[in-house]
Amino acid sequence: QWADLDDLVGTTLERMESRLEKVRVEVDIAPMMPLFQVDFVLMEHVLMNLIDNAVKYSPVGSTITIRGRHAANWIVLEVQDEGIGIPQEHCKRIFDKFFRVYARDRVVAGTGLGLAICKGIVEGHGGTIEAESPGANQGSIFRVRLPVRTPGQSDPLEDPEAAADA
Ligand code: ATP
Ligand code: MG
Repeated sequence: QWADLDDLVGTTLERMESRLEKVRVEVDIAPMMPLFQVDFVLMEHVLMNLIDNAVKYSPVGSTITIRGRHAANWIVLEVQDEGIGIPQEHCKRIFDKFFRVYARDRVVAGTGLGLAICKGIVEGHGGTIEAESPGANQGSIFRVRLPVRTPGQSDPLEDPEAAADA
């Protein structure tokens, strides 16, 4: 399934419209992005999770920025917020099932599964996901990298016929 990043981001934002009422959303996607091969619905789910977190862990009226660019054979998608940030030592653990930075406070509801699911989906597409935060209350950036395959270039692991021909 060939996906277009503008389309993926646009569709996701439309679906989340009511969730985005209290924030500003900026979208900055480079022109001429290549199409990439993903399960559109699963990738929508990843983006929804990241945007949902960005809203959940940010103050009302702050800005959420979604960026897309193309670097070598990768599509790079970033969701940046101006929220509470993530302590450096937790930037890796937040992708573990049930891990939540402020679980005990229960200030914000959640199960801690969102990012574990995102990671599973992204890695299932041969991609990577990482979080970066300059510090407490200085916001966070979530970066997803997905491999670009040009049409005609099939992945033998996913295409048994091509594997048989090889
Ligand atoms: P849910 O399962 O409902 O998504 P959750 O949002 O708590 O629950 P994850 O999405 O997996 O779970 O996120 C794990 C933890 O990572 C969160 O509890 C929070 O502590 C931290 N986190 C995730 N996104 C952000 C963000 N944008 N800013 C600050 N902290 C974040
Ligand atoms: Mg979440």
